Amino acid sequence: MSTKTKLENFVKIYDKSENQCLIKLNLSRSHQSLLAKMLCGVAPLMVELGRFKNIAREKRVCTVCTKNVTEDKEHFLTICEGLKDVWEKHEKIIGSLDFVTLFTKDNLKNTAVMLEEMFNERHKLMTIKAK
Ligand SMILES: [Zn+2]
Repeated sequence: MSTKTKLENFVKIYDKSENQCLIKLNLSRSHQSLLAKMLCGVAPLMVELGRFKNIAREKRVCTVCTKNVTEDKEHFLTICEGLKDVWEKHEKIIGSLDFVTLFTKDNLKNTAVMLEEMFNERHKLMTIKAK
């Protein structure tokens, strides 16, 4: 689990990127939104969604896999077994799923495509489990 605050993560990414403004890039609105949410630490993962339901952090677990751990961005991007096929495929394209690498200017388009596929797969798996 990351011990850095959202602001520390944002500053770490922001300082190392050139031309960070997502609006200047040729990305769809949904891709810009996914990148911005992930970058700012407000992606719709259990670690965030649980905050609004007053669920203790340790109980905001991933419902996609069976690891019974908090679903935060690290788990989502590189650990979750339920999403492994998707992140492994994109890791080969992007080179690394390190947060700084994902958010360098040259990787933003590929990162957005990966995030879209991952959230679609996550939604599909959660829907299947809910039945
Ligand atoms: Zn998981």
